[in-house]
Amino acid sequence: MAVVVMKFGGTSVGDLERIRNVAQHVRREVDAGNKCAVVVSAMSGETNRLVDFTRDASALHDAREYDAVVSAGEQVTSGLLAIVLQSMGIAARSWQGWQIPIVTNDAHGSARIEDIDGTELRRRMDEDDQVAVIAGFQGLGPDNRITTLGRGGSDTSAVAIAAAVKADRCDIYTDVDGVYTTDPRMVPKAKRMERISYEEMLEMASLGAKVLQTRSVELAMVKGVRLLVRSSFDAPDSVPPASVNANEFTGTLVCDEDEIVEKQIVSGITYAKDEAKVTLVKVADSPGVAASIFGPLADANINVDMIVQSVSDDGQSTDMTFTVPGTDLERALAKLDDCKGDIDYQDVRGSTDVVKVSVIGIGMRSHAGVAASMFKALAEKGINLQAISTSEIKISVLIDSAYTELAVRTLHSLYGLDAA
Ligand code: ADP
Ligand code: ASP
Ligand code: MG
Repeated sequence: MAVVVMKFGGTSVGDLERIRNVAQHVRREVDAGNKCAVVVSAMSGETNRLVDFTRDASALHDAREYDAVVSAGEQVTSGLLAIVLQSMGIAARSWQGWQIPIVTNDAHGSARIEDIDGTELRRRMDEDDQVAVIAGFQGLGPDNRITTLGRGGSDTSAVAIAAAVKADRCDIYTDVDGVYTTDPRMVPKAKRMERISYEEMLEMASLGAKVLQTRSVELAMVKGVRLLVRSSFDAPDSVPPASVNANEFTGTLVCDEDEIVEKQIVSGITYAKDEAKVTLVKVADSPGVAASIFGPLADANINVDMIVQSVSDDGQSTDMTFTVPGTDLERALAKLDDCKGDIDYQDVRGSTDVVKVSVIGIGMRSHAGVAASMFKALAEKGINLQAISTSEIKISVLIDSAYTELAVRTLHSLYGLDAA
């Protein structure tokens, strides 16, 4: 007997037929004697539809009411799956975030899970053979109001539930059959990985691979949850049920580095289009200037990522280029305008036609030369680098978004990741 948390994303529960297919995956596990909790997303497109409603209702709206609206999609799918499971003779009960409760902080729209008491869920699994069908993405804030966990947050709900019920595994069912060396929808030659380390997966998620929400990987790493990314499109009876010691699985296992035998220098390439570039032109080149720019942005909760300082064309002052999340560009420009007197710059420019392309691999810790080969390959394709940032296991470059595919495909081939 294994305890398994199964999470199904939007496409996997896209309509009643897909929900019936999900129920067959659950039935396979139940028939094998496994104890299951199932976490579901809203039907695909539904959360976007709800977000649009809140924007149309009023451009500036109360974040608590945003959460009341956008959390609704998951309520529908959790109830529907429970109904379908019950109709198949499987004991099932739906749970909303507030009923468990999944306790979060008060950051409405991108709340963090603080605590889940899994005792009652686990008791029902063990004593009543009941399958818990849990609405993903939602929690309960300190003011007793519904919160949501940020886009893609059902992955994090699933990992948190897995930790709370001490699951042997957390299976993330999606519309691709695992984690690939890059987005398989952009690069058909992308290869599925058998295993990936938490650390690399964390970098890939935070640098644009949306297959897992970044926080879900963070949480899995901290809590030691074994994560398996797999497809809900595999025929439910064609795959083996989860078992405690199984080293056989279909999909990609996210696990500790020492469980990975074959280590690559570069294991994956990502791209993130939701970046914006800001350039402050002709800033006084004197001590304290960086603090006067980035202090106010930090106070406004705007995350600055890549930073480049270069000499202005007058040779006297400096140009400061940096990136912020695309959704924060307008706020960042407004903030810089407010501070113009203190910072002393001539002009400010913002653009969103940029993309951050990154190469990721734990092998880079002990291998020099990855950056050099990356820059050379991009230069040979005539791609200009507008900013660069590095860490121990990744190198990111900011380029014109028109070159996204070319850059990703070039680097994918360069590091030998193309499928034969
Ligand atoms: P779900 O609705 O199941 O949560 P998502 O759309 O959030 O699914 O995530 C799955 C998608 O992630 C895939 O359809 C794929 O296009 C995209 N993706 C991006 N990078 C990768 C990658 N490296 N490996 C697998 N999928 C990726
Ligand atoms: N439905 C939410 C979203 O679309 C959460 C999720 O699917 O993970 O962002
Ligand atoms: Mg997702």
